[in-house]
Amino acid sequence: MNHATPHNADLSFDRRGFLLATAGLVASAMLGGLPRSAQAASLTLPSLPFADNALDPVISANTLGFHYGKHHMGYLTNLNKLIAGTEFADMPLEKIILATAGKANKAALFNNAAQTWNHSFYWNSLKPKGGGEPPLALKQLMESSFGSVDACKKELASTAVGQFGSGWGWLVLDGGKLKVVKTGNAETPLTSSMKPLLTIDVWEHAYYLDYQNRRADYVNAVLDKLINWEFALQNVG
Ligand code: MN
Repeated sequence: MNHATPHNADLSFDRRGFLLATAGLVASAMLGGLPRSAQAASLTLPSLPFADNALDPVISANTLGFHYGKHHMGYLTNLNKLIAGTEFADMPLEKIILATAGKANKAALFNNAAQTWNHSFYWNSLKPKGGGEPPLALKQLMESSFGSVDACKKELASTAVGQFGSGWGWLVLDGGKLKVVKTGNAETPLTSSMKPLLTIDVWEHAYYLDYQNRRADYVNAVLDKLINWEFALQNVG
């Protein structure tokens, strides 16, 4: 994909928009004179752990600009609107997810909260010049759980590719063993007894600008060149 397209010009605009939006949220949280319960204790978007173009060419700056600046930001903006003035306004993000999971009348809240969390976790699951050999302790876990690093990667790839429709592929820790699972839409292993170690976003917005319908090419390229095994190992704890 040609990155000298007008989309790159859009990126700096998106970023300004994002900074203004963030400044607005902070300002609204600091407004004096309002009763405490009416103040918006807004959640903010963590910065990307790398530059917009740092994952290029596996994930282009164009994809990253829309994915982080529009999609991820959109979930957070919706979430802040939904929690304003409610019992959820002062809760940490993880608590909101756990408190709303599986509740039909809280679906919008859950979806936006879980998508906000899932995306931050996804950015941390990637790094420039990632992939390659996992650190020894993770490698040993992969070998005892799947037989080999390659078998683990293959299962992660086929599970992520096989998720029907929008969702996520995950490497998780389940009772001391590694497992690979997939979730649909905003669902997240955070609400289960499994501990998420890393994730791959397989919503079409994660890859369509760069790979169109070729989800497998995106997933395999991420696993070979961007996946952050060190982050996964940190999460093993
Ligand atoms: Mn996404």
